[in-house]
Amino acid sequence: MRQGRSLSAVVAIAVSFLEGLSACGYPSVAPYKALELKGPSPASGELRAQFLGVTTILFDDGKTSIMTDGFFSRPPALQMALGKIGPDHALIDDALDRSGVTKPGASKLDALLVAHSHFDHALDSGRVAKLTGARLVGTASTGEIGLAESVPDDRIELVCDGKTFDFGAFAITAIQSPHSPNAKFPGVIEKPFHPPTHVSNYKEGGKEEEGGGNYSFLIRHGGISMLFHPSANVVPERFQGVQADVVFLGIGTLGLQSTAFAERYWNAVVRDTGARLVIPIHWDAFNLPLHEPLQPMPKPFDDFDNAMTMILVPANRDGVAVRFMPTFEIIGIEGALRQLPARRVDTRPRTVETRTKRASCDDGPKR
Ligand SMILES: [Zn+2]
Repeated sequence: MRQGRSLSAVVAIAVSFLEGLSACGYPSVAPYKALELKGPSPASGELRAQFLGVTTILFDDGKTSIMTDGFFSRPPALQMALGKIGPDHALIDDALDRSGVTKPGASKLDALLVAHSHFDHALDSGRVAKLTGARLVGTASTGEIGLAESVPDDRIELVCDGKTFDFGAFAITAIQSPHSPNAKFPGVIEKPFHPPTHVSNYKEGGKEEEGGGNYSFLIRHGGISMLFHPSANVVPERFQGVQADVVFLGIGTLGLQSTAFAERYWNAVVRDTGARLVIPIHWDAFNLPLHEPLQPMPKPFDDFDNAMTMILVPANRDGVAVRFMPTFEIIGIEGALRQLPARRVDTRPRTVETRTKRASCDDGPKR
């Protein structure tokens, strides 16, 4: 009886999801076509980036490559609502090939930086780390996803706020940051589980009383500083002293928040870091496949046009460029910055980088 009732609840959720899609459809990206990032082909050895959907970005300097999240399976909506999900090996292989990570002669992946362990970030993280030999950087919960895929324990690097990692010429600092509001599935993953499994098993990856399990990453390379900030929320104090030329800005569910929330978000993550270029991430519907043109998340799950207004208005005020990265296109970061005008109002912090490893960090999460 109880089983019957819970099944009908799941069916009701699935039906309302599909009704939401058909009633409202996907918002159009056409009005933002002019914001597509174009630039000269990067010179050899120049820092380059490729956007691979949702919050997955590949950074490469010809010697070292790092990736954020590595989410490619993008399970269809009906499967998410009715059944179990797991890494889709064919889709992962295809995306890694297409991005150049696994092509013959290409540099292997040195590190995979995982923001948190919800499925739309971490579903494929263990599989990608296993296939590429990358070090898996994330919370202990993400570590459990890696262990389930037989990633060796000594290739798993646990994050905590302020912890730094060096990979070739890349210097990475993890910054703990709250998940976007009203997220489902809080808590930690206690032990490895083997997919396919229910979406709810991919818990965020941190205890709420300890600030949750979501992380941003400050990625510095040569003289360039980039902030990967995947979840649309902020504790401004966490970003004091952080300087970034480029912010990969999570806008998922931002359009559902108040104007005051969005203003505070923009000011802390973009205005006060001195960024000149903002690249929106976590805007596409992650139930649609990566080999088709990306489409924004539909209402009522998000409000893409409202989110765009919420970032374009302050961007115009502060003289910050907002640009979308086309999927799988290789963008030279220096070239992209060179073609931008100087910022109208320079709020860049005087100290280049004041985040340092906190004394308590070594006592952080351990398995
Ligand atoms: Zn999440």
